[in-house]
Amino acid sequence: MPASSECGAASTVEAAIGLGANLGDPAATLRSAFDALAALPATALVAASPLYRSAAWGREDQPAFVNAVARLRTALAPDALLEALLRIETAHGRVRADDPAQRWGPRLLDLDLLLYGDARIDTTRLRVPHPHLHQRAFALRPLLDVWPDASIPGIGPARGLLPAIDDGGVVRLQEGGPGGQS
Ligand code: ATP
Ligand code: CA
Ligand code: CA
Repeated sequence: MPASSECGAASTVEAAIGLGANLGDPAATLRSAFDALAALPATALVAASPLYRSAAWGREDQPAFVNAVARLRTALAPDALLEALLRIETAHGRVRADDPAQRWGPRLLDLDLLLYGDARIDTTRLRVPHPHLHQRAFALRPLLDVWPDASIPGIGPARGLLPAIDDGGVVRLQEGGPGGQS
């Protein structure tokens, strides 16, 4: 929902970013990615969720993921925000393969734009709200930590969705621990 920024010059919006990694040191990568999001121009990091470990989704023949969500307030337009996310992924070593078989495969860092205010966007490059958000416990759990009253345009309140989906594989990591709960 657009709102005036403190300086009143640009309109800002609250956005949710899903973070995920399952190669390298995922927890360290996600902490670094939170820092990179906080450093984006015209953007403030409102809240960073705890980290969760979750079984891989879509393709199970790969290591478990570490996931989290960042709640931002930004004056960046959705396209510019997506560009920034892809740049942060690349800066963390992600190599983006054109091969569709690579989708949902292992990666050093994945940043998805989950929500951008109450916007609904459907272009070839960007779909918002993220089309799988309402089905993914690994995104909904941390989203609700940082944005308890989040609403998914076209779907409804995020809070009501978790009970209906299987979140058995999503486990919160211990603060500061190297590998979290076993
Ligand atoms: P999923 O989107 O199902 O989580 P993925 O994250 O593995 O799958 P990627 O390979 O990282 O998919 O992204 C493929 C393309 O998806 C990106 O290049 C981007 O243009 C597009 N895309 C569409 N909507 C979004 C969104 N909301 N957030 C991030 N990327 C998006
Ligand atoms: Ca993703
Ligand atoms: Ca992605």
